[in-house]
Amino acid sequence: MESSHDPASAWSSLGDRTAISLDAIEIRWVELQLRNPVRTSRGVHDRRPVILLRLIGTDPNGAVEGWGECAALADTTYDAEDATTSFATLEQILCPALLSVTGSAGRMPSLGEFAALRTDVAATSLAGAALEMAVADTHLRSEGTSFAELCSVGSDPVPVGAVVGECRDTTELVDRVDRLVDGGYQRIKMKIGRGWDVEPIAAVRRAHPGLFLQVDANEDYTESDIDHLAGFDRFELACLEQPFRREDLSGHAHLAHRMATPICLDESLHSVDMVVSALEMEACSVVCLKPARLGGIGPALEVIRVCSAASVPLWIGGMFETGFARAVNVVVGAVSGTLWPGDLSPAHSYLREDLTAQAAQAAGPLQVVPSRTPGMGPALDQAMVDRHTVNMVRLGSKPGSHFGDG
Ligand code: MG
Repeated sequence: MESSHDPASAWSSLGDRTAISLDAIEIRWVELQLRNPVRTSRGVHDRRPVILLRLIGTDPNGAVEGWGECAALADTTYDAEDATTSFATLEQILCPALLSVTGSAGRMPSLGEFAALRTDVAATSLAGAALEMAVADTHLRSEGTSFAELCSVGSDPVPVGAVVGECRDTTELVDRVDRLVDGGYQRIKMKIGRGWDVEPIAAVRRAHPGLFLQVDANEDYTESDIDHLAGFDRFELACLEQPFRREDLSGHAHLAHRMATPICLDESLHSVDMVVSALEMEACSVVCLKPARLGGIGPALEVIRVCSAASVPLWIGGMFETGFARAVNVVVGAVSGTLWPGDLSPAHSYLREDLTAQAAQAAGPLQVVPSRTPGMGPALDQAMVDRHTVNMVRLGSKPGSHFGDG
């Protein structure tokens, strides 16, 4: 299909011309393991439960399916919506709503129509973003089009950065950074927090004076730490990410006026309106873009427009996605044209086993290339998904056709 040069309008009209009926939706709880536990100021993650959605339908050519992946983590340390909440919201509210709307309209909604459908559940953005992804994947597979093609994204590589959690000591930290830099990564983001900041940052800086270095505090500080944080200017960091609580935009604005290091916000930016407010208040000058946290691709494209108009740099954040959702983020990064390396390293670099059939399309250690497989991302390996599924609920299009699969 031809696609508009404006990704946002191409996105909202996706599905306008497809006639897909929906027979069932599977909601799957998949258990994956991280290669290395990730320690942040908020806690340690060693497992990665992933909620997956599978839409099973029919288009004029026969059977069609589509997949969506939820960004919610095992616990509420990053977002109030954890995997358990997402699963329940999808099972009880969002998926029944999609089945009902599709049944009464006689076709699955376009992405523009879907955006209107989910305004009622704005508080549960991660689940909504997963369902949006599944609806889009189904439309794209039905049309035989990739997300990259829809957005008029070419094959130019997107720059990739790596993330290092808190370590036992600075020797282990520098060792891990050394290996990443040797592997070709040009941007390193390190997690910091109270008791793990000045000494480790200084150690990495001594070892790598010219490195593009970001630090992420995951809300660990308060305004009483402003003098301490302002001292980080000597490390010439690319940015300091989310030092204060997510609600505290004025605190971030105070800090931004005190220090030369750019302030980046992540957890605070849960809606397009929040991004606009943060920029207006000068609470940040760099944006971490996570489509799932904003509620999906629709709002993410709007944030790209806002940042581009204001010449605000952004970069694509990661949630330890499988290769499927990570490929979606690679395309979003390509759409944004960002020059800042994002959290886009291949999924097999942090997951013991990825769920996608093909290896990430790496163009070298620093760069990845947008997927051109029809759909939102590369095909999932069904056998591997089945093997890691620990719970599944299947909702049917007929009333009462709801059963669990243990
Ligand atoms: Mg962050």
